Amino acid sequence: MRLVRPTLFVILRKEKLIMLSIFFILTLCIYTLRGLSTKVPEKPLSNRIIAVDPGHGGMDSGSSHSGYYEKDLTLDLALVLAKQLEAAGATVILTRTTDTDLIDLVTIEEEIRITKEEYQKKLEEGTRINALDKGIALGTRTPPLYRLGLRARLLIAYQHNADILVSIHTNHFRSSSSKGAVTLYYQSSEKSKLLAERIQDHLGPLRPGRSHPDEVADDFFILRVSQIPAVIVEVGFISNKDDREFMLSDQGSKEIAEAIIQGIINYFSESDQ
Ligand SMILES: [Zn+2]
Repeated sequence: MRLVRPTLFVILRKEKLIMLSIFFILTLCIYTLRGLSTKVPEKPLSNRIIAVDPGHGGMDSGSSHSGYYEKDLTLDLALVLAKQLEAAGATVILTRTTDTDLIDLVTIEEEIRITKEEYQKKLEEGTRINALDKGIALGTRTPPLYRLGLRARLLIAYQHNADILVSIHTNHFRSSSSKGAVTLYYQSSEKSKLLAERIQDHLGPLRPGRSHPDEVADDFFILRVSQIPAVIVEVGFISNKDDREFMLSDQGSKEIAEAIIQGIINYFSESDQ
């Protein structure tokens, strides 16, 4: 009998030790996993849907200089931007990935119907109505063909529930000395303005010596009618040698994309407040 107690004691101690060890290992695992999960940084544009629109395309070449066409530059720049946006966690909707003007996606009848709806809405709101929009809505004007392609870009963005639309363009001027980036917004949209300002914050000073005005309030079709905050980023002047070479280079296009993305990140952090 005397031997039983120590044996039982030893067995109990062993069981306790095993239980304690398991508890210790489990606790260690939980803390390690927690540590790992907090170390993985949240991507800055997770849960954001961003429509990237390479300006022009197909029959519509946009501006050109020295054998380079705006429609090709905008597509190349947009593809780099899309890739980097995805790396930052965003869902990217590209309005085109090939050399197309998108005109076939919207019929004239459809464009007239949408314009009528927009006209009615603006009448009810009492907001300013563009003369061409009014003419199309009242049947005195016919939608120009280029408008169908622009409408298609907007409809693609809406179909995918995009939060914002960033349309990529290059600038052109008869004087080759004009250079630098300009981001355009629609003056009636506070969010469009904020997005343009934040993008310009980073894109403007990308290279020293740029002296072009920062934000330009404008009422281009895509900005005027967009239901989501939209901007046109005139990345640089195709007519300026330095801008052109910068936009055409791998390094330049990556820096341009990074600047636009920083602006978009800042826009979301401010517009969410
Ligand atoms: Zn353009």
